[in-house]
Amino acid sequence: MGTSTTPTASQYGLGNQRMLEKIDKLFACGVGAQVALPQIVVVGDQSSGKSSVLEGLIKKPLPRDSGLCTRFATHIIFERSATTDIHVSIKPDQKASKEHIDVCDSWGKSVEALDSDAFVEIMQEVHEVMGLSSGSDESTTRKPTFSNDVLCLKISGPDQEHLSVIDVPGIFRTTTEGLTTQADTELVRNMVTGYMDNPRSVMLAVIPANVDAATQEILEMARAADPTQDRTLGVLTKPDLVDKGAEPKVIDLLDGRSRPMKLGWHVIRNPGQSDLSDKNLDRDAREASFFRSHAPWSAVDPEKTGIDSLRVRLNEVLSSLVKKEFPKVRAEIKGEFDKLSKKLADLGPERGGSAEQMAFLTNLATQFQRLVSAARTANHGADKLFDKEPSLRILPAIYSRMNTFSSEMAAYGETYYFLTEEAKDSKKELVKDEEEGFKIRKEENIADLADMLHPQATKSGPDEKDIKGWLLEVFQMNRGFELGTFNASILATVMNKQSVNWENISLGFVSDIIVMVHRFITTALSFICKDAEICRTLTETLFEDLVGLYQKAIDNTRFLLEVERNDTPMTLNHYFNETLQKSRQEKVLSQLQNNSFDLSNYGKVVQIETAMKTHSMSNEEHTVQDIHDILESYYRVSRKTFVDNVGRQAAIHYLLNADKGPLGLFSPLFVSQLSPDQLEEIAGEAPADKRKRAQLTKDIASLKEAMKILLRA
Ligand code: GDP
Ligand code: MG
Repeated sequence: MGTSTTPTASQYGLGNQRMLEKIDKLFACGVGAQVALPQIVVVGDQSSGKSSVLEGLIKKPLPRDSGLCTRFATHIIFERSATTDIHVSIKPDQKASKEHIDVCDSWGKSVEALDSDAFVEIMQEVHEVMGLSSGSDESTTRKPTFSNDVLCLKISGPDQEHLSVIDVPGIFRTTTEGLTTQADTELVRNMVTGYMDNPRSVMLAVIPANVDAATQEILEMARAADPTQDRTLGVLTKPDLVDKGAEPKVIDLLDGRSRPMKLGWHVIRNPGQSDLSDKNLDRDAREASFFRSHAPWSAVDPEKTGIDSLRVRLNEVLSSLVKKEFPKVRAEIKGEFDKLSKKLADLGPERGGSAEQMAFLTNLATQFQRLVSAARTANHGADKLFDKEPSLRILPAIYSRMNTFSSEMAAYGETYYFLTEEAKDSKKELVKDEEEGFKIRKEENIADLADMLHPQATKSGPDEKDIKGWLLEVFQMNRGFELGTFNASILATVMNKQSVNWENISLGFVSDIIVMVHRFITTALSFICKDAEICRTLTETLFEDLVGLYQKAIDNTRFLLEVERNDTPMTLNHYFNETLQKSRQEKVLSQLQNNSFDLSNYGKVVQIETAMKTHSMSNEEHTVQDIHDILESYYRVSRKTFVDNVGRQAAIHYLLNADKGPLGLFSPLFVSQLSPDQLEEIAGEAPADKRKRAQLTKDIASLKEAMKILLRA
């Protein structure tokens, strides 16, 4: 016949039966819901016979709109299954409003048959849900005529072949007053080209045989969507309506002499409008007899006439398309499998009974403890969570807060400034930034812990009140008959008063560390435990014990305060003596210096007489000076001991490092001691999760099955 464009049967032939079986199995394992499998799309002008061709193919009447035409795409999915069911649903346009999507998603029905009266009602509902005009209503606010929503019909039954077909609205050029607008033309055109462009669509381009093919824009559109013409089949309809004399033109098309199409043309005789009322019409027999007995159709190659030969051809084309698309389908299935597997993994293992719940929580506890040990040693490279969530880097934060604590104690610890110049200057240096005082707490409160934490408040530093006057007063009120010495209890009294601020500063510090630790625990748990609800109940269960452990750190601080501030002053630290000697020496020295003069060759000299005269202090003055010096020396030693002890005991030991501290609490041991009730309460599965897990498990199983099928290629 000279036309090389017509392929031989073997090219797309039944050699690919295995491929078809494979698609069939792919559909059967339900993977079509996750990965787009090849489908058939019927395109053409309005009333060209698209729905009729489809009805012939699937041997079922389709929902017919008595009005103008189909106003939305209909996706029909045939599925072989043990039970017979027709499920109708609407897949909303993903670009529509959230409300519209919700309305569509929540709509769905099962029906017994497509041609029943009930179905007419359903179609009316569908129009309403999609928000389409009913065609006849003359409301002032015109509702749209077409919709990008898709009507989905899932037809399942034991005899169904797996197949996915799409009936789209016909394209049109001329608008109808009051019904279709220029915008509708565009909308429909875009919808149709959307389906045509999908490389997994086999297109049936439908053209009525009784019109001039040259006027049929759909052929140009098909060529644009499928330049290699590997997935476009030409279908001529209405051969019975072709005028006498116009027939040779149609035969030219069929024989590939005009407008050759790589996959060739078919001619189909569908029931006409007048045939529809005949309920007993055997469509196929009627068509067969038409092509057998009517010239010139009886002379046409039987492989090109009738719905059955179209069906065979279609299967071949589908299978070759599938073959081409297989690698991509395989990759997609693998990708989807990985994605869903990850989702399932995030849900954690199934937690039906105590044993599973305990295993689940033990796993969380182990992960938590791993994070804790990395945090305790600032081994931040050990887990990428430390990069994601800087508040988990707790060690540097605690260290920095300890430094602040230490300098605050130095700056604001004492009630009266000591006389030593050096002390005063360094204090002014530290205080100058915070003229109005300093904040006791640096960290935000945590609401649940607010009761136990030291209040957020601002305190002022030491005032410059006359320390000597105060010490003299204390001395006078407590003196006995000592000569040149003083009652030992005086030192205890002044030390207590001088260190009043320690309480605020140290409790504020410990409270801040508690906040940091608690925040670490809740943050770490929220990362480790993907399920917010489990995370919440788990934190709740831990809470009481945590509070007890935090309280230990506070109690320890109070104990240290008690020891340093209220016990009899006592130290073995040599630093005390050194400071005391130094401050006495300095005092004498500074007085001598005031009376010195320069003598060349000798440097500064003081006359013995002058030196003697400087010791003119009264006994009382002398003792007060002594109290001051001893208090200052002792205070300094005590403060340093205190800062170290609070830091090392309350913060580092009780809050950070202790095995039985707050960070050690949520451990596998803790989990092993939970009662079955507690386990169920924390880790029992919520019904929603159970459903999610069931769905994921099912989807993953079908993907797995699909991968197996594809491997057997
Ligand atoms: P669609 O709008 O493209 O889906 O076209 P339909 O399938 O709804 O058909 C439009 C009209 O043409 C209906 O009345 C059909 O009965 C009629 N029709 C379709 N195919 C044929 C055919 O081969 N012969 C005759 N006589 N009428 C047909
Ligand atoms: Mg139609």
